[in-house]
Amino acid sequence: MYLAEMFYSIQGEGMLAGVPSVFIRTSGCNLRCTWCDTPYTSWNPEGTETPLAEIVAFATRHPSRHTVVTGGEPMIAPEITELTRQLQAAGQHLTIETAGTVWADAACSLMSISPKLANSTPSERDGGRWAAMHERIRFQPGVLMRLMEHPYQLKFVVSRPEDLDEITSIVDQLHADRGRVLLMPEGTDQATLNERGAWTAELCKKTGFRFAPRIHVALYGNRRGT
Ligand code: SF4
Repeated sequence: MYLAEMFYSIQGEGMLAGVPSVFIRTSGCNLRCTWCDTPYTSWNPEGTETPLAEIVAFATRHPSRHTVVTGGEPMIAPEITELTRQLQAAGQHLTIETAGTVWADAACSLMSISPKLANSTPSERDGGRWAAMHERIRFQPGVLMRLMEHPYQLKFVVSRPEDLDEITSIVDQLHADRGRVLLMPEGTDQATLNERGAWTAELCKKTGFRFAPRIHVALYGNRRGT
């Protein structure tokens, strides 16, 4: 499997924020978010082919039973079905972090879906070369509804208060459980997260959606392997 990295850290985002977890990060993505915080898996993908046995051995040698398969976009990895089955058979609580544009037959305990909003479209980056493709595939309601057949969370990255209209529209269209919807401020430095977190918290109070911090940024900064 083509991986950018494997590491042991604290889950920083979502309903399981704070849980020590092994992270398996696949490399390669079918989207090009303008603010992507892992460009080494999307804009400039890099990694190494790693045997599944090595991945499972790494995941199971830490004290936590939680493993997060993330990316990039892990659902486009050809080995996703086999890897998730092996991790689950090894007793791991498995979270898959996906943008929700591709369905694959993957085992998991929590499908962490982060549908990408209009704020992610790279209109100016790389001369707008990726904008049309990204815009065409970033929202796939049929795929999202299938993924939501798993235990799920919907985690939206917000970068401006106006994003709320689009989020509400998507949540209504998907008939999502509002208690499973999280709003997470976009940003990779604490000052930006503090500023955006302040108004994001108010949006959560207004709507009943959960507020999602980015604990790993507070703990470690925006560094690979954390
Ligand atoms: S879906 Fe995730 S990995 Fe892919 S470009 Fe967007 S933020 Fe980056």
